[in-house]
Amino acid sequence: MQAEYLIVGAGIAGSVLTDHLLKAGKTVVVVDEPSKSNSSKVAGGLYNPITGRQMVKTWNCDDLFNYLIPYYQDLERDLDTRFLHDIPIYRPFFSIEEQNEWMSKSVENSFAPYIKDIKTKPTWSDEVSNPYGGLVLDKSGYLDTAVFLNAFRNRLQSKSMLIEEDFSFGDLNRLEKGFDYKGLVVEKVIFCDGRLSNDNPYFSWLPFSLVKGELLFLKSTVMPRVIYNRGVFVIPVGDGTLKCGSTYEHEQLNEIPTKKAQNELLERVQKLVKFNFEVVDQKAGVRPATKDRKPFIGEHRTEKGVWIFNGLGTKGVSLAPYYARQLVRHLNGQEALDDEVNIERFFSLL
Ligand SMILES: Cc1cc2nc3c(=O)[nH]c(=O)nc-3n(C[C@H](O)[C@H](O)[C@H](O)COP(=O)(O)OP(=O)(O)OC[C@H]3O[C@@H](n4cnc5c(N)ncnc54)[C@H](O)[C@@H]3O)c2cc1C
Repeated sequence: MQAEYLIVGAGIAGSVLTDHLLKAGKTVVVVDEPSKSNSSKVAGGLYNPITGRQMVKTWNCDDLFNYLIPYYQDLERDLDTRFLHDIPIYRPFFSIEEQNEWMSKSVENSFAPYIKDIKTKPTWSDEVSNPYGGLVLDKSGYLDTAVFLNAFRNRLQSKSMLIEEDFSFGDLNRLEKGFDYKGLVVEKVIFCDGRLSNDNPYFSWLPFSLVKGELLFLKSTVMPRVIYNRGVFVIPVGDGTLKCGSTYEHEQLNEIPTKKAQNELLERVQKLVKFNFEVVDQKAGVRPATKDRKPFIGEHRTEKGVWIFNGLGTKGVSLAPYYARQLVRHLNGQEALDDEVNIERFFSLL
């Protein structure tokens, strides 16, 4: 059996990259053992152009956001499955000063495309605390990552392109040209193994800075039409369920839900929303974040033909499409990788 590419990992990174390779006419085989890590499956799935405490445009915002919505919408048509939910994010203001600041920013060219509306009076007041109104974002929403990954996996399975197993590093043998993996001959291998690249013999030297995160699933009779987001996000995912998250933990890097995270999330969500709910589930995962908060993309310095597409950190949904497209163009000799994401920036560590 032969293919041009062997992809290891079918989370958001591996799936979106495989899709781009296939659309570029390449042949691909994917190896994924779904029980190894679950960051993509538990992710909130938010895509949000203006983020953080300082509420700044996310890094590379215009490039990422001009591509990601049409990309996922096309993929929905292709897979005949709905997973992109284009819903405004609503961020209540804390003060009149903040309201004024956003009134001014909303007419600036760089912010205007991402602002749908500014509420200067309390709105949806029976649902959310917002005495000074709030900011309604555009080009925002969430990707139902579980539905997306499942649909893409089914597509791979139906085309016999998926090997469901733990990738065995000892079985990857270099040939004169390319590699042999258990009888499968490929030209290149691309690791999209998420946080497990931290233990990957080819890439463990990269400065990952993994971050555990937890989410709660709430049941309520109230289903907001927007995503509330201040200190915590509350996403109406339908069927009476809200997803609420998330936490940031740098020490205990495991996928075990904790009472501490539950309490922290409940405290924050109770400050934000006014309606009653009950907690019905809790999930934890580990984000493949990096020291400089930029992705890790590129070819190994000495192991030619071995590549990585990883380090999507807290923003896998918005980073994956743009950088998968860039990597595939790069592999075709059509485009250079951005210096900020190219792993060459860390070659001195090898
Ligand atoms: C609580 C939480 C909330 C989050 N919220 C958001 C959000 O709102 N928006 C957002 O954009 N991002 C969010 N993220 C981050 C997002 O989940 C990540 O950026 C993204 O999932 C990374 O995808 P990945 O494909 O690189 O890694 P993963 O999802 O970990 O995928 C790696 C895949 O490779 C497989 N694998 C690894 N090693 C092997 C091996 N040796 N053999 C076989 N298979 C292997 C794993 O089983 C897995 O299927 C959140 C993360 C967490 C934990």
